[in-house]
Amino acid sequence: MGKPQTMTTRPVGRTQSNVKEQAAKLNRDVFKAGLVYETWGTASVRDGDRFIIKPSGFPYKKLRSWHMVTVSLNTGKTREGELNPSIDTKIHKEIYNAWPWVGAIIHTHSTYATAFATAGLPILLANTTMADYYANTIPLTGDLSTCEVDSDFETNIGKLIIQTFKKQGIDPRLVPAVLHKSHGPFVWGETAAKALVNAKVLEKVAEINCLALRMNPDLTVSKAAKYMFDYHNRRHNGRLTGGKRNYGQEGH
Ligand SMILES: [Zn+2]
Repeated sequence: MGKPQTMTTRPVGRTQSNVKEQAAKLNRDVFKAGLVYETWGTASVRDGDRFIIKPSGFPYKKLRSWHMVTVSLNTGKTREGELNPSIDTKIHKEIYNAWPWVGAIIHTHSTYATAFATAGLPILLANTTMADYYANTIPLTGDLSTCEVDSDFETNIGKLIIQTFKKQGIDPRLVPAVLHKSHGPFVWGETAAKALVNAKVLEKVAEINCLALRMNPDLTVSKAAKYMFDYHNRRHNGRLTGGKRNYGQEGH
């Protein structure tokens, strides 16, 4: 693929929606947080019956709202934008359509989370900090069949992610992250801000788990610890207090 046109200045007469600005900023924030390298990964934000995603192979630092590509949730076709959308567009489309409450999706190749995906290991829920954000272990998908790879690869990755949650009986609201085996993590949130926190936290808990597994390769979780993790998760997310968070400060 040739070098994408970077369009360093806003095209004359082009108006931009707030969601495009938000989607461009989310991608830059993911890069600033050190969660992606080069042009790897992509982030998107839902906008009604469409979503706005990073152009394929585009440098994060130069990314501005007018570079973003608007894609129909119905057809998967580009509705606005002059550049080719991310190669992962169909994965995002599947997730948005399956889980209508998802407002933003981030895919990175962040080092530790990707190491777990590469090793073929889920990220075990094994400490309280992780329990604050995830009600359960971060699941790992299986492999696609050769047919699924050949027929509609990205759509099938999206379907595989959704099936993984169904099969394992995990609520994607309570565990908003997955490891696509031999590839890397996908995270989501109701808002762009929540998805970004999720992407950062996932990488940190993956790092902690990696260190813990080096010290104790036979790491397991006791029933008592599981009970404590459940308590932590419910407390952090206000499920102990009728929706009112009693952790941190209101509005922060
Ligand atoms: Zn990827």
